[in-house]
Amino acid sequence: MEVHNVELVMSAVAPAQYPTTGYPEIALVGRSNVGKSSLTNVLINRKSYARTSSQPGKTQTLNFYNVEDQLYFVDVPGYGYAKVSRSEREKWGKMIETYLSTRPQLKGVISLVDARHEPSDDDVSMYNWLHYYKIPILVVATKSDKVARGKWNKTESVVKKGLQLSDPDEFQLFSAQTKMGKDEVWNWIEKRIGE
Ligand code: GDP
Repeated sequence: MEVHNVELVMSAVAPAQYPTTGYPEIALVGRSNVGKSSLTNVLINRKSYARTSSQPGKTQTLNFYNVEDQLYFVDVPGYGYAKVSRSEREKWGKMIETYLSTRPQLKGVISLVDARHEPSDDDVSMYNWLHYYKIPILVVATKSDKVARGKWNKTESVVKKGLQLSDPDEFQLFSAQTKMGKDEVWNWIEKRIGE
C-alpha cells in the first residue's frame, strides 16, 4: 500500500473509545523497546510518527492510527515493564485482553520479537494467548540487521522453536534500518484485511 495519510485518531483505554468507522484493524504487540514504533514508521514511510520508546510508568493506551482511510494500525502498549506496579500491570492486561478478544474488526496481530534473542517468557505467553483466541499472527523478528546474514536461518528456527509457532501463523525477519521485510509485512497485512 502506498501510504500518504496517517492520523492518530484515538488513544483508548476502554471499548467505548474505540473508533466506530469499521475499518479493519491490525494490532502490533511486543515488549517495550523491541522496535514497534520503528516498524510502524517504516510501514507508513515516516521518520518519526509513532512515538518511540514510551516511558515506563506513563499512561498506557491503545493508539489507533488511521492509515489512508483503509485500516487502523493499533499500537498496543509494550509488555514487560518491570517497574510498573502490579495493579498497573493488571489494568494493562485487562485493557489488552478486552481489545484483542472482543474486537470483530481485528484481522490480525503482528507480534514483534528481537531477532538477537530467544523469545522471552512474555513473548511466549503473548503468542500462546493470541493463538488460543485464534487470531491470525505474523511473528516479526526485529533488528535483524544486528544479526549476521549467515545466522538468519538460525534466528528463524530459534524463534519458531521458542514460540512453537504453528501453522498457519507466519514468520518474517525485519529491519527498520535496512527496511528488510517491509514488503512482506505489507503483503501479509493486505492479505489479512482483504479477507
Ligand atoms: P518500541 O519501544 O518497541 O516502540 O521500540 P522503538 O521503535 O522505540 O526502538 C527501540 C530502540 O531500538 C531504538 O533505539 C531504535 O532505534 C532501535 N531499533 C528499532 N528497530 C531497529 C532495527 O530494525 N535495527 C536497529 N539496528 N535498531 C532498531
